Amino acid sequence: MESDPIYPMTDATHEVTNQPPPHEGYNAFTSNPWLVDAARRLPVANAAMALGDFVGSREARELAQSANRHEPELRTHDRYGHRIDFVEYHPSYHALMAKAIGSGVHSLAWTAPQSGFTSRAVLFYLWNVLEQGTACPVTMTFAGVQVLRQAPGLARAWEPKVLANAYDPRPLPHTLKSNVTIGMAMTEKQGGSDLRAVQTRADTTSRGEYRLTGHKWFCSAPMSDAFFTLARLPEGVTCFFVPRSLPDGTRNPFFIQRLKDKCGNRSNASSEIEYRDTAAWIVGEPGRGIPTLIEMAHLTRFDIVVGTAGMMRSAFAEALHHATHREAFGKKLAAHPLMGNVLADLALEAQAATLMAFRLAQAFDSPDARERAVQRTLTPVAKYWHCKRLPPMTVEAMEVLGGNGYVEEAPLARLYREAPLNGIWEGSGNVICLDVLRSIAKSREGLDALLQDMRDTGDKRLVRHADSIGAMLGKAEDAEPAARRIVEALALGSQAALMARHASNAAAEAFIASRIGGDGGHAFGTLPPSTPTAEIIASARS
Ligand SMILES: Cc1cc2nc3c(=O)[nH]c(=O)nc-3n(C[C@H](O)[C@H](O)[C@H](O)COP(=O)(O)OP(=O)(O)OC[C@H]3O[C@@H](n4cnc5c(N)ncnc54)[C@H](O)[C@@H]3O)c2cc1C
Repeated sequence: MESDPIYPMTDATHEVTNQPPPHEGYNAFTSNPWLVDAARRLPVANAAMALGDFVGSREARELAQSANRHEPELRTHDRYGHRIDFVEYHPSYHALMAKAIGSGVHSLAWTAPQSGFTSRAVLFYLWNVLEQGTACPVTMTFAGVQVLRQAPGLARAWEPKVLANAYDPRPLPHTLKSNVTIGMAMTEKQGGSDLRAVQTRADTTSRGEYRLTGHKWFCSAPMSDAFFTLARLPEGVTCFFVPRSLPDGTRNPFFIQRLKDKCGNRSNASSEIEYRDTAAWIVGEPGRGIPTLIEMAHLTRFDIVVGTAGMMRSAFAEALHHATHREAFGKKLAAHPLMGNVLADLALEAQAATLMAFRLAQAFDSPDARERAVQRTLTPVAKYWHCKRLPPMTVEAMEVLGGNGYVEEAPLARLYREAPLNGIWEGSGNVICLDVLRSIAKSREGLDALLQDMRDTGDKRLVRHADSIGAMLGKAEDAEPAARRIVEALALGSQAALMARHASNAAAEAFIASRIGGDGGHAFGTLPPSTPTAEIIASARS
């Protein structure tokens, strides 16, 4: 064989064998039977096909990699010393944002004639198979619409630009832009969970306008066009809308102090900011800021449920691709029975998460009162559980790739660093579990519906499981320290009921046996030895 004239020494020393082909050039929608099922009968198939094609393309994977490698940089001043508070992103970040916004990943819930939440969830799931730093501003923009509508004047002026599918990153007044994005700035140094401790002050000017003074300790996507934020009025903590550009074209005082040096989520800028005499518009009632913003938080939590399901699919798909092509000890990795157990277990986890995400999305779309109650209870339950399962799942998927998995060129290293974030953001684990208890204390309708879904499967293990949750909740005085146990049991029971209803018999049985019936271990790959793992893996492919 003639050696390559450019790399003669490489060819002279070894041939590359037994490395899998690049995992690219596939359609992330059509190759995912669970997602195709979820999208059935929805008016989103064409958009999902197009986005799925992009997500699986080499181009998209390279953009995702370089947007995370070339991190955003803060420019506080221009060369003449003027304050500009500008974050410079790599072109790959803008290319991804243009694709996400251009595909309606932020807007479809509000613009689709029907089933908007479910249709958009298909796109958001797909986006999270690809990249999560850009998912952050996309989520906040989607969720912001709900709060914006609480200020009709602002909604009239801003909503059409929020919903436009034409990314426009220019730092200009919203009137001059084709599209705007929305952020949220709530967390302060002294506390993020306990927002009653907010110190930022709102003062009223002689013209009846508001000016803010204070800081925010975490503010992601600081180049967004406007932010929902919290500040204190004499009536209490109040929600405000802070645009970065004022109607006269000048910049609203919004001082970006520094960017966070984060564990992951590196394509996305997260900043510390200060308000000094910053113009703001009130949203909702004075002193009711936390309940006003909770509506937005509820939607971002829903998005986390969908996004984490997409990330689990991504981890599983990377692992499956590698194990399908790589050989060890004389056969493909996937053909080894123990690897089959690991892959099947990962598939079950990702499938159950996908079913949960779309069960929830349908509840958001439903006008039915029972479904509204389910949506209220299930959102924090699913948010908690998906966030707890994603990190160990990415670790296990990484291990399937062996050393290749631990190298930055494979997307799993990035996914691994991203995995804990959703568990911290928008309600950390304990806070979420306490929230579930509070929501159940207010109304048991959602809980009762979820327990009924478990009982309706007719599976004795699930009936017993539902009874045990009822018993745990019965002891109200013990509920707080048991909150994680209760929420975990509710999440697993709900996933099991969905698997019983929608998955193949083999997958449903393996899930229920290992997660509810006690016939499984703590690590992945501990399904009952009799499990038909090859069948479960095959049903996870298109
Ligand atoms: C990458 C990233 C991006 C972010 N972006 C934004 C943003 O754009 N805007 C924004 O406003 N914030 C943002 N945040 C901040 C995030 O929302 C907060 O970090 C989060 O709400 C937790 O607040 P905290 O950090 O102050 O922790 P704390 O509130 O101090 O909580 C610490 C721990 O204590 C637990 N805890 C709290 N209360 C209780 C209780 N009663 N019982 C038991 N345990 C309890 C919590 O669950 C948590 O585990 C971001 C954070 C990260 C990591």
